[in-house]
Amino acid sequence: MVRDVDRVLVSRQAIAVRVRELGRRLARDLENELAREGHADDAGRVVLVPILTGSIVFVADLLRELPMKLSVGVVAISSYPGRSVESKGAAIRGELPPNLAGRHVVIVDDIFDSGQTLSLVRRLIEAQRPASLRVCVLLRKDKPRAVPCPEPDYVGFDIPDEFVVGYGLDFDGYYRNHPEIVSLRGAARTH
Ligand code: 5GP
Ligand code: MG
Repeated sequence: MVRDVDRVLVSRQAIAVRVRELGRRLARDLENELAREGHADDAGRVVLVPILTGSIVFVADLLRELPMKLSVGVVAISSYPGRSVESKGAAIRGELPPNLAGRHVVIVDDIFDSGQTLSLVRRLIEAQRPASLRVCVLLRKDKPRAVPCPEPDYVGFDIPDEFVVGYGLDFDGYYRNHPEIVSLRGAARTH
């Protein structure tokens, strides 16, 4: 696996530091939200909605920075089937988590790329009328979005418009376990 790495874009240490910062900011904002409504932080009104499969590693680290009682409801979206490195349009697989009405929802995704995934998930969740909706992504690519989509509220790192893997992100199902965000050597994409 290590042989396939071309360049490290974000180191393990940088990810750890930044995820902790994002977690603290998110925790503070959610706690303010709960306080404004007069809810205790153990009211269980926060729901994290990670988008599968790319956000699994990120959300596992992020949620442990959040001290309030919360639940997790995953949503599965497919946009890069198989060996493709370009978005083919987002489609939902399976069902959305139910009972988001009146709750404080945080969508968590690995990367904001064309914007299609987040624009779709946002729309579907807004239809359930949550009390608040936030979007937190680890990475944001520096490029024009293919569809109109609001910017995420929390962004870990802005990166160039390159195909990256690691820390949950895959190519053809592999490299999710690589602990850094890296680009792949051309040859790794052809065998
Ligand atoms: P969007 O719908 O914004 O184009 O794409 C979002 C999804 O495409 C992400 O959740 C991610 O799964 C996948 N994606 C976008 N860019 C990359 C990339 O550089 N590497 C990998 N592995 N997946 C990406
Ligand atoms: Mg994804």
